Amino acid sequence: MNSAVYPLAVFFAAVFTNNILLSNYLGMCSFLSVSRELKTSLGLGAAVTFVMAVTSLLNWLVYHYLLIPLDLEYLRFIVFIMVIAAFVQLVEMKLPNFTFVPALSEPKPEDNWEGETGLITDIVTRNLFSGENVEAYLCGSPGVITLHGFLGTDTRNLVDILIDDDAKTKRMGLSHERISRRMEVLRKSGLRVLGEFISIEPHFEVKVDTVRGKLPCPFGHPGIFPKINTTVRNLHIKREITYTDLNIHLIGAHGFYEGKGSPFRIEPRNLVEVLEIEAEE
Ligand SMILES: [Zn+2]
Repeated sequence: MNSAVYPLAVFFAAVFTNNILLSNYLGMCSFLSVSRELKTSLGLGAAVTFVMAVTSLLNWLVYHYLLIPLDLEYLRFIVFIMVIAAFVQLVEMKLPNFTFVPALSEPKPEDNWEGETGLITDIVTRNLFSGENVEAYLCGSPGVITLHGFLGTDTRNLVDILIDDDAKTKRMGLSHERISRRMEVLRKSGLRVLGEFISIEPHFEVKVDTVRGKLPCPFGHPGIFPKINTTVRNLHIKREITYTDLNIHLIGAHGFYEGKGSPFRIEPRNLVEVLEIEAEE
């Protein structure tokens, strides 16, 4: 091949036939999680390009000078991934404003995992101290990350929504657990008679309706939640609020009240006022 044509052929191959994202499915997480917003996707695109440019060179050296002489070519993908991960760690050390947090939800003892564990939402709030000028890129299974139906028309990302609602409930002197416990107590008392409002002391009416169907937790919790709607009327302030069993779980376990514009979004303040949830002593 003509030596001037060759780099051009490599370039087009990288764009079309050997595109790392579209043909090798590498970098899929970053693509899925931030492709909705132009500004962040430009930044992440540049980061991925930089990392891939440098690590391609490193991987070429490792492949030709280590794996081929040792007859270990079959390990190439694992080794490539390790080189990329190690490089990202090194870059992180050089960039004080960038933190890479690997996490597993439920590692087994034999995994000898020393990183973060638990639910993705807890890990995010544990590692971010303030919502100002902070961006988090989450990678994981699609159910964990996309959450489209739950964000509604909210253009903020999941992390900002969580931090915002967390701050709101803290300002009211409440915890998500306490709020969800109160929701659960009223649901339980309404369960005695299905589909009808029943009076609950001192001035509430509660109706529990069951609808066919079940919903899974979008954060990947095992188990599914039956579609049960609880409507609580506060006769004193003449307001009512309706929530589902999944809302109770999402609030209690994840501090997630859903995005603005989601039909099941629950405003923490409404909930606290209608259900008359008192701050903890
Ligand atoms: Zn969950």
